[in-house]
Amino acid sequence: MSIFKQHHRAKITSQPFPGEWESILESGWGLWPRLNDQERATLRDTIQILVDEKYWEGCAGVDVDDRTKVLIAAMAGTLLLDRPLGYFPNVHTILVYPAAYVQSQERVGSDGLVHTGSSNLGEAWYNGPVVLSWKDAEESALHPGRANNVVQHEFAHTLDMQTGMTNGTPPMRSKDEYGRWHEVMTTQFAEVLACYERGGRDVIRAYGVTNVAEFFAVTTETFYDAPVALNAHRPALYDAFREFYGVDPLQWFDGHA
Ligand SMILES: [Zn+2]
Repeated sequence: MSIFKQHHRAKITSQPFPGEWESILESGWGLWPRLNDQERATLRDTIQILVDEKYWEGCAGVDVDDRTKVLIAAMAGTLLLDRPLGYFPNVHTILVYPAAYVQSQERVGSDGLVHTGSSNLGEAWYNGPVVLSWKDAEESALHPGRANNVVQHEFAHTLDMQTGMTNGTPPMRSKDEYGRWHEVMTTQFAEVLACYERGGRDVIRAYGVTNVAEFFAVTTETFYDAPVALNAHRPALYDAFREFYGVDPLQWFDGHA
């Protein structure tokens, strides 16, 4: 990172967090009151940086105001609470649409997100914009606990892409972590797939076994948004994601289920 960027970030985060933004979080984000002081402080900095550094654009009539930016940055920022991976360096632009939409060459997944039809997702998206449906993002913010968060899903894909490949394995801290990750993800993906093939149900929704990239993105949503269920039904997966993200969302949902 350049000295200039470092200096600019320090300047941005040294500014007081706007009271209006605090109110947006309090009224619009169900998870905010459950976070501890340290997590909130980290997120305030992250929100300031993401709002400042990313190019935000409303599409099809969406007015991207402070509420839109702050809520999206907050949910995306949960992925960075303990990550040394920068502030989504491969994301420059965030496009916000009113609701799920269809564009040529792309389709809308069951999660309300736009997905390219190509199997070569990583290269297609690398350094490309993150595209979000505001209707889904706003609902995700208001109603945590449904194992559904389009912002965390989409930004998880961008972490995955930081290796240059979208293969469900984002950059890890150590060689050991890669080894454990590969073993857990391979085993768990096979188990979830087998479950759906025999007509069963799983804490990881069916869309997650579309491919390994979706498995990482959907499990990220489940980890952050339904940690009690994930830990109860797939503890090995919960543990792997707790190690990767360096946070323990069970604490946020304790007593809230
Ligand atoms: Zn996806």
